Amino acid sequence: MSWEEHVRRVDPYIPGEQPKESNIIKLNTNECPYPPSPAVSAAQKVFPYESGRLYPDTEATELTEAIALVYHVPADQIFVGVGSDDVLSLAFLTLFNGPGEVLFPDITYSFYDVWANLYRIPFRQIPVDEHFRIHAADYYDAPGGVVIANPNAPTGILESPAFIEDIVKHNPGTAVIVDEAYIDFGGESVLPLIDRYDNLLVVQTCSKSRSLAGMRIGFAFGSKNIIRYLKDARFSSNSYPMNGMQIALGAASFRDEAYFDEVCKKVIRTRERSKEVLRGLGFSFPDSMTNFLFAKHERLSGQEIYEALRKRGIYVRHWQKPRIGDYLRITMGTDEQMDMLFAALREILA
Ligand SMILES: *Cc1c(COP(=O)(O)O)cnc(C)c1O
Repeated sequence: MSWEEHVRRVDPYIPGEQPKESNIIKLNTNECPYPPSPAVSAAQKVFPYESGRLYPDTEATELTEAIALVYHVPADQIFVGVGSDDVLSLAFLTLFNGPGEVLFPDITYSFYDVWANLYRIPFRQIPVDEHFRIHAADYYDAPGGVVIANPNAPTGILESPAFIEDIVKHNPGTAVIVDEAYIDFGGESVLPLIDRYDNLLVVQTCSKSRSLAGMRIGFAFGSKNIIRYLKDARFSSNSYPMNGMQIALGAASFRDEAYFDEVCKKVIRTRERSKEVLRGLGFSFPDSMTNFLFAKHERLSGQEIYEALRKRGIYVRHWQKPRIGDYLRITMGTDEQMDMLFAALREILA
């Protein structure tokens, strides 16, 4: 017998490329094109380097309290982690421990099936319809739980709080995770529902709307019980997940909501303008309420456009997968970057 038979083998998630060249236009991983708040820069300048000698605060109190103030949620109903990937991964491990299948759409964040496989969680992927829409009734009485990204990725489609509540209401016996990574770009969060449904976990991130993808800060809201279960699992594997720099700089970001609002508005304006330009160039797409557009051209294939853009130093995301192979996911850059994308597309399509 070989030791390799006892290895937990997994097919890992493949993130978008982080190219090393500096003169490229990077529209492939949904980062924010604007810098973090000046308050984050100020906090970084006064961060005491000697604090590196000590272990950080296990509860990340300063960060949790800053989030509590912004969202008007008690600190014991907030969980923080190393990006929302860390929060979601731990939530899968902790909340989906039953024998029944966990349900999620076939076209959604492609980390969900990776975590399910990693933790040996049974799951079923429910096909979205031909317009990439999710149907709430497909998720009623899920045998092992539900995870829904709202807005969904990579489609960009937003559902209403009533739609999400309908799914939560029909799953009193299992946990429901709502991944709101893109909710700040025009959506309405289901955060208020955590007071009525103790099986609901609402997950958000500083990576997209707060320009802190590199800092790795994710957070979740839920009932006291659900948060306690997550913390018990967390402190059973790592007592110090968040470092001092993450805690201090993340907290600073939540103390500057004016800057956050301004950045979200700018990204939304660019998105609405980009919708018009891309339509004019022969693209169609679901009506995105995120910081990206999931667009398909009437004539050229997704692969062709992807490669032609890449040659010109413009990176977008493309999956060679059934149903979505003709689509490109284009992150909203600055208006200048988008104008360069449009110019390149005009050249490619000419
Ligand atoms: C980007 C993203 C995440 C994870 O982002 P983090 O950087 O780990 O916070 C989670 N869910 C969806 C749908 C995303 O697009």
